[in-house]
Amino acid sequence: MSDIIRLLPDSVANQIAAGEVVQRPASAVKELLENTIDAGATDIKLIIRESGKLLIQVTDNGCGMSERDARMCFERHATSKIQSANDLLSIRTLGFRGEALASIASIAQVELKSKRFEDEVGTCILIDGTEVKEQFPVNCQNGTSVSVKNLFFNVPARRNFLKSNALELKYIIEEFFRVALVHPDIAFTFYNQDKILFQVSPGNLKQRITSLFGSSYGQRLIPVEQQTALVNISGFIGKPEFAKKTRGEQYFFTNGRFMKSAYLHHAVEGAFKELIPDDSVPSYFIYMEVDPQTIDVNIHPTKTEINFQDIKSIYAILHAAVKQSIGKFNLSPSLDFEVEQSMHYKPVPEDQPIRQPTITVNPDYNPFEKKTEPQTHFTFPSKPPAPIQGWQNLYTPSQPASRPDNREEYRHPGTGLHGMDQGSHKEEEPAERKRSFQVRGSFLVTHTQSGIIVIDQQQAHERILYERFMNREPAEAFPGQHQLIPQTITLSPGNSQFMLEWLDYFRELGFDINDLGKGTFVVQSIPMNLDVSGIGPMIESMLESLKAPGNDNKNTQKQLMAKSLAMKLSVKRGRKLHQEEIDSLIENLFACKVPEMSPDGKPTMVIYSFDELYRKFKI
Ligand code: ADP
Ligand code: MG
Repeated sequence: MSDIIRLLPDSVANQIAAGEVVQRPASAVKELLENTIDAGATDIKLIIRESGKLLIQVTDNGCGMSERDARMCFERHATSKIQSANDLLSIRTLGFRGEALASIASIAQVELKSKRFEDEVGTCILIDGTEVKEQFPVNCQNGTSVSVKNLFFNVPARRNFLKSNALELKYIIEEFFRVALVHPDIAFTFYNQDKILFQVSPGNLKQRITSLFGSSYGQRLIPVEQQTALVNISGFIGKPEFAKKTRGEQYFFTNGRFMKSAYLHHAVEGAFKELIPDDSVPSYFIYMEVDPQTIDVNIHPTKTEINFQDIKSIYAILHAAVKQSIGKFNLSPSLDFEVEQSMHYKPVPEDQPIRQPTITVNPDYNPFEKKTEPQTHFTFPSKPPAPIQGWQNLYTPSQPASRPDNREEYRHPGTGLHGMDQGSHKEEEPAERKRSFQVRGSFLVTHTQSGIIVIDQQQAHERILYERFMNREPAEAFPGQHQLIPQTITLSPGNSQFMLEWLDYFRELGFDINDLGKGTFVVQSIPMNLDVSGIGPMIESMLESLKAPGNDNKNTQKQLMAKSLAMKLSVKRGRKLHQEEIDSLIENLFACKVPEMSPDGKPTMVIYSFDELYRKFKI
């Protein structure tokens, strides 16, 4: 038999390598931006269309390439940055593997224009899936411009795996941040669909953070600084009170490279212990400088993981540095950190121990709860809702729940968001019906012909609201309550993209929100009975709910938003209810399609059948 092993053609090898380096438009953006930094650029433009699926263009004013280099750079393992394995020990550049451009060129149509300062003319090269189509001299600016068009045009499987434009854009913004945050001295302009999404001019790190994340960050940051023989740490941490429930603003950079590290995250998080609620994550922008000989960045093609020789010591130093910063901030909390540079904070006298920061966190704090009892979250009819005829038969444990045919009457969307509409007014009180009551401010007890039912008021109300939001006719909007003083909210760049996509749906839910640009939105009206103070976090958490992996389907996303809103608006455990509210809640629960379960999949009720009770009492 003849030999069967053969070498793959370069085009195939490059496509395979591309699978590792370029998974999505954001990975190409990362590689192209990193090349501009390595080229010493001071002014960088990023232009994308269709979230990079159609076009990614990166233009820089860096060193440029000679005619030969412009051709060579698309070869695999072609790099100007290292020459031997020894050089791997002293890497100062972001790139060194020489495979990014080769990979990108194998899965896209690429146009490169480059000119060195010393050359008269530049070079233009057109490449189509590895194949060089054309190369000719051009008049162009000093520096390099790479356009990547139709990413994955020849790899449909990959193209089909791409997510929605909003999500892909979010990934790109993230990569852009990771580069822009390390180089506050470089100007960046980021265009999305011909509009400027970010434009940041050279400045200090704090200015860079605020120009990317919003001016409110100026007041949120505490500086961190620690110089040791092993590592120099600098940067900022977010004040404990600004810790968020969602991840996203946690940045570690080592020698100018963004890095992921669960282990070091733990070191920072640990320093915030007791200061922030368990389910919140502190923000941080931490920059570490170490001797390149003591780390290995070549573990993964995307180079976001780094091996440290002495990670344990770095953990301890980082933990102490963050703790110390929090402590200093706590000693002089009124100090304005807006005042730049020289007067960051008063150093703690050597002989004075760092006071442990103490901020008490109330675990029961709920921004959506009104403070005064016995106010309730939700409206209820002035008259108690009349019972449904045959209501006692609505739920029997042995049979599937039967519900009244006239169920529609429980879903008048115009009469209140919270499922407390008035039912039909039937005069006769069914003989069997007894008053239901509340126990421990949390459970509702009632009974039917076949047994006793204990209902968890919170989970039951979540179910009612959820079905309200989901069963709404598309054109039928929930009534909103107009805000006398409209509130503005500023969303993170990723979330504001989602917001723009979902504005109409928010309107259907009773929010009237308008885009003011740059991630700022004005909230004109909000769903009835929603506590005004919790708007910002509530909207953020609704948008965050869209981001869980695998939630690309519009309907699933609507379910997630409806669930998130229902859970926020629901009456909480511990809230004393009026009799009318108790009755109304129970009736509306049984009018649901799936009364047994909360949208989160937890039971809304427990049923003790009379048969079971007879057995227990040995009757
Ligand atoms: P690496 O960055 O790992 O060296 P790349 O494939 O990203 O590999 O780039 C290959 C080479 O092309 C680089 O080593 C560099 O010499 C050159 N190059 C790429 N982009 C630029 C740029 N924007 N300006 C100047 N030279 C560049
Ligand atoms: Mg590179």
